[in-house]
Amino acid sequence: MNFLKKYQKEFAEYDKLDHDFIDDDKIWRQLNKCENPAREDVRRVLKKAEQCVRLEPEETAILLQNRDESTIQEMYELAHQLKKEVYGDRIVFFAPLYISDECANNCQYCGFRSSNTAVRRKTLSLDEIEQEVRTMIEEGQKRTVLVYGESPATGIDFMCETIKKVYSVKTRHGEIRRANINCAPLAVDELKKLKEVGIGTFQVFQETYHHQTYREMHPANTIKGHYRWRLYCMDRAQQAGLDDNGLGVLFGLYDWRFEVMGLLYHTIHLEETFNGVGPHTISFPRITPAAGTPFSEHPRYAVSDSDFKKLVAVLRLSVPYTGMICTAREPEKVRREVIQLGVSQIDAGTRIGVGAYTKSKIANQLPGKEQFSIGDSRTLDDVVREICGMHCIPSFCTACYRAGRTGEQFMKVAKSRFVHNYCIPNAIFTLKEYLLDYASDETRLIGEEVLKQHTEQFKGEPVYNTIFKNLRRIENGERDLRL
Ligand code: SAM
Ligand code: SF4
Repeated sequence: MNFLKKYQKEFAEYDKLDHDFIDDDKIWRQLNKCENPAREDVRRVLKKAEQCVRLEPEETAILLQNRDESTIQEMYELAHQLKKEVYGDRIVFFAPLYISDECANNCQYCGFRSSNTAVRRKTLSLDEIEQEVRTMIEEGQKRTVLVYGESPATGIDFMCETIKKVYSVKTRHGEIRRANINCAPLAVDELKKLKEVGIGTFQVFQETYHHQTYREMHPANTIKGHYRWRLYCMDRAQQAGLDDNGLGVLFGLYDWRFEVMGLLYHTIHLEETFNGVGPHTISFPRITPAAGTPFSEHPRYAVSDSDFKKLVAVLRLSVPYTGMICTAREPEKVRREVIQLGVSQIDAGTRIGVGAYTKSKIANQLPGKEQFSIGDSRTLDDVVREICGMHCIPSFCTACYRAGRTGEQFMKVAKSRFVHNYCIPNAIFTLKEYLLDYASDETRLIGEEVLKQHTEQFKGEPVYNTIFKNLRRIENGERDLRL
């Protein structure tokens, strides 16, 4: 079958709907209604946000349109407080693994697009994947997100083989314990196969929720050209039993305030359709320059650093129970700032070239093999040390998904504010492993201090003894202990 016609029948079904859950005009009406809102209106919304509940679009619009410095500061403080309440002060670490840069789509902003002659195409063989994974594990990684283009060379069966391969690699320091996926939208029967091989989060970014912009960025004669196929892909994931899903927007394609509203409407749609289960994570990459890709040099709606901070805080306030991911596309300084505003996951030691972990031993780049450029190319050890210095605890925990705490189960735990009872002890165990197996002396010193502070928090609680005992067991060589 012609690859581009692969999902033709499904496309036709979506075409029959007279509307989808993103109403562009309504979003603009909501935003325009509260331009430059009064302080009392902002504070009324913040009062509600304090209760850790998902906001309504009219309320989020008020925060997005706020330009008053003093109440923006209040937004930042509350965003930080909510993140601490729901997730504690841990920051989860992961690293992407680029499996293939072959792609039949032609997204204007992406270095992998089919018309880009500046990229030499490469799909990793299973042996090469093994090499990449070994290097990642030897550097301290425990969680990864596998990234693929959309091409006949990397169909669902290939993807499943690659995931099995990643999980099969064991070294003296252990293994990758959670493999998330970032790939093109798939059909229900394909998604069931991903469920079978045991992926963590299934991520697909809508890129832009604005219909017209979506059409302009993604040519109609490509699979990605179908807006609704992408928009409803998390519905299909839920139908296939994948209840741990990640949304995202590529900021810079359209107005950032509209896009935040789009993410919120998507969240509401999923919560209403799937028994309260919204997205597990939200990502908010900004476009960065990609080789041979003029659009990426001057994005039409480039988001400034100050608007970026605001959008991160508004997302945290609007969807307090959703994990928020800030990638190494952002420079160090920006990452430091948004961590204070509600980010719960970051990548570090990242290489985004296909085959780059094996080929470039330090966190560096591989020209001609990358989808875009990264802003934070420090090593994992450097970033772990920095996070420790920010009084946060780095975590390599993979417990929830392995204990079946996903989807509705996860939401129940998250919403009853018990996450820190699991997350912090598990962060303590996984950081201890990292310090023993990989850390530099400098990082180990500050890391041990962080472990001590966080363990002391539990003094007087029943779990204190368990934490204490597990730390001794890890020191004595046991690994992968978790609650
Ligand atoms: N091919 C799949 C797709 O398009 O959904 C999955 C992976 S794509 C390699 C991962 C994400 O990278 C895209 O969804 C997009 O948001 C982001 N991306 C593409 N070009 C980018 C650029 N120039 N700068 C930053 N992020 C970019
Ligand atoms: Fe292909 Fe994804 Fe890049 Fe689009 S964003 S060209 S689909 S890899």
